[in-house]
Amino acid sequence: MSRYVYDFIDGDKDLKDLLGGKGANLAEMTRMGLSVPPGFTITTAACREYLRTGSMPVGLLDEVEQHLRAVQVRMDKILGAPDDPLLVSVRSGGKFSMPGMMETILDIGLNDGSVAGLARRSGDERFAWDSYRRLIQMLGRTVFGVPGEQFEVELAAARTAAGVRSDADLSAVQLRDVVGAYKKVFHAHTGRDFPQAPHEQLFLAIGSVFASWNAERAVLYRRQERIPHDLGTAVNVMAMVFGNHGADSGTGVAFTRDPATGRRGAYGDYLRNAQGEDVVAGIRNTMSLDELAGIDPRSYRQLLSIMERLEQRYRDLCDIEFTIEDGKLWMLQTRVGKRTPAAAFVIAGQLVDEGAITLDEALQRVTGEQLAHLMFPSFDTTAAPAPLTTGVPASPGAAVGAVVFDSAAAAAATGPVILVRRETNPDDLPGMIAARGILTSRGGKTSHAAVVARGMGKTCVCGADDLDIGEDSFTVGGRTVKTGDVISVDGTSGRVYAGAVPVHPSPVVRYFEGELTPAGDPLLSAVQRLLTHADHVARLGVHANADTGPDAGRARRFGATGVGLCRTEHMFLGDRRILVERLILADGDTEREAALAALLPLQRADFVDLFTAMDGLPVTIRLIDPPLHEFLPPLEELTARVARADALGDDPGHDATLLAAVRRMHEANPMLGLRGVRLGLVVPGLFAMQVRAIAEAAAARVAAGGDPRPEIMVPLVGAVQELEMVRAEAASVLATVDGAPPIRIGTMIEVPRAALTAGQIAGHADFFSFGTNDLTQMTWGFSRDDVEGAFFGKYLELGVFAASPFETLDTGGVGELVRTAVERGRAAHPELVTGVCGEHGGDPASIRFFHDAGVDYVSCSPFRVPIARLEAGRAATTAAAVSDSR
Ligand code: PEP
Ligand code: MG
Repeated sequence: MSRYVYDFIDGDKDLKDLLGGKGANLAEMTRMGLSVPPGFTITTAACREYLRTGSMPVGLLDEVEQHLRAVQVRMDKILGAPDDPLLVSVRSGGKFSMPGMMETILDIGLNDGSVAGLARRSGDERFAWDSYRRLIQMLGRTVFGVPGEQFEVELAAARTAAGVRSDADLSAVQLRDVVGAYKKVFHAHTGRDFPQAPHEQLFLAIGSVFASWNAERAVLYRRQERIPHDLGTAVNVMAMVFGNHGADSGTGVAFTRDPATGRRGAYGDYLRNAQGEDVVAGIRNTMSLDELAGIDPRSYRQLLSIMERLEQRYRDLCDIEFTIEDGKLWMLQTRVGKRTPAAAFVIAGQLVDEGAITLDEALQRVTGEQLAHLMFPSFDTTAAPAPLTTGVPASPGAAVGAVVFDSAAAAAATGPVILVRRETNPDDLPGMIAARGILTSRGGKTSHAAVVARGMGKTCVCGADDLDIGEDSFTVGGRTVKTGDVISVDGTSGRVYAGAVPVHPSPVVRYFEGELTPAGDPLLSAVQRLLTHADHVARLGVHANADTGPDAGRARRFGATGVGLCRTEHMFLGDRRILVERLILADGDTEREAALAALLPLQRADFVDLFTAMDGLPVTIRLIDPPLHEFLPPLEELTARVARADALGDDPGHDATLLAAVRRMHEANPMLGLRGVRLGLVVPGLFAMQVRAIAEAAAARVAAGGDPRPEIMVPLVGAVQELEMVRAEAASVLATVDGAPPIRIGTMIEVPRAALTAGQIAGHADFFSFGTNDLTQMTWGFSRDDVEGAFFGKYLELGVFAASPFETLDTGGVGELVRTAVERGRAAHPELVTGVCGEHGGDPASIRFFHDAGVDYVSCSPFRVPIARLEAGRAATTAAAVSDSR
């Protein structure tokens, strides 16, 4: 029979798959001898079984009973005993942290009898009734679906009747009445009395935690964070200790370093006389750890020493939850803490300096997406008005948007919005995902809003407590800001401004541009150090997709070691479009040759710019790709113009000629029509002109003392014959240009047939470059320009794919074609160089795949070059160093 339950003493931090992150870490702390309340973990396997069958796995309840007995022995108390009850908490905890998304039920074991026992033993009647009312509320809401507001209404009524503002000011008698009122609410909703049997309470709570794996918000969070849906949650059952036990008690959360900046030193919030959820929910304002040092120096010192030990054990930033009960410190949770992108880089660098991790490991502690985040612009504060207010800078970034006051409005908005709430809770998740930024009036850096926003890399300012937030406006300092008004939220400084404040480039980008030096700046130094190491260990090269000299220059400053794709069709836009129009409309060889001759010097000048910017590095120039009719006015517009002229009896003139050409060239699906090499073979002289321009530009650079390294790339090849013909034509043109360096000729692999016949094609190609955009389109049969808007949202929701295959490579399908083509190509031509120039070349997950598939380089937009460099290094460093920072 399977074993479904592990005592904390039986597990360790490496059992996250089975015990979930929280359970594995509780076990680790127990092993370390830290004061963790006794308890046990029900495995994720039990949850999966429960979700599969809809009922408790056979044998589970017996195992729970058995482990509960051991807890009772250690605590010397019986669950729910009337005289001195043991109470337990029941908490979710999956392999990956999903803060606040699943259920937690506290105070299991309280009933009409044990509430009196708890009051007697603790000497605090108020605390006993408060705990009982919390239990009815939690079990009622989570297991029986009693709407939370119905309880809130009763609590508010009790506060009003007692003439007090805070729950903490309600007396024992008043709370006892609240319990009575709660029980009535419970009965009215469920038709039964609140369950009194402690073991029934426990089993109901366990079932409700299992079920909360599939709660809407949990599913949404997993989708957002790309956490698999089939893992299930573990359930942690732990003896309760009480932070709401008077002035010597309290509860807190802490980080071993600042999770926003990475600055060294413990950092956290403490709430006196309160239970854990109060801090995490951010509902009451907290005190800092330094203030705790003032009121309870012994616990403070103990806490600091535990945090140091945890950092040493985990070799990373840890966050913890703790409770002090009557002056005794208890550790309730730890995990490798979430952090901002900047903190991730800074901390990785610090840990290397401290000798805790190697540089290879440091690369695993940061991600390309985090680096992307650091490259976002921030506010230009010199151009900002006086701030409306300043709150707690909880998650850095610069967000500008229209104010909305509820999550649904944020999710429904079409433009950028800032979600403004008193505090957020897990139900706000859809709005938080949709919003550019989040602003709350309550809670600190560890509030729900702050934790979730940081995890998502979303700008957040919280605890801006002078905001007076109403239904559809807030007021601050005499000013009113209404729904739809634009504000700017600075998650780095905590400042909130009316209107749209201009933004300026990130320091990381300025460093890449050579405008800032990293010396003395912890973030820039860490970025420099990790990227240097990534370049050192990477096997994959990183080139850039760049069409102009300035783009290529930037790519080079950002670390690209070549241009992997210059899309020459982009050079024909703007005021040159008319020249292409002449080419298309050319009547006979003479007109066509004249049109090509006019284009040649322009192309040559473009290529000179590119070769200059990338001197000494390869520049892969792709012969023209898109359908020619893209260079002509749209059919509808021309038809209307000609019809109007006809109706007025005017001569449509040139428009009539254009219309005839557009009609002739019109295609139902141009992306699958006369493009790429097909065009080159159909329009005489077009490719030859481009080849000449490349060769002449290279010769000019050589003559000027440069070191141009051009490569010619043929797009959309599906048959080796296409490539052979273009090569033959190119060779004859190249032979006529003096002074050019040798020019390699290769092909894109973007038609599935090319991937499958890669062995033949490789015999005529110096290199392959995978055009994974077209390869995805053609492998799936998706029209690139249509499907994302049409049904990808639904497909993501249905789980047909976890991410758009146009963003992250579909490794099972398109990836197989890439692998096949690399293998067959190399078998036929061992020196064949392979690269990737589709969008996937800049996508972290895809880069890892290309590394594994043995591709030589990826090519991506200049701004993604540093990200790709980092990911190439990460892919090359061993799996043994994998981070457990989630
Ligand atoms: C590709 O198809 O992946 C590619 C790089 O070419 P384009 O996006 O220009 O079609
Ligand atoms: Mg393509």
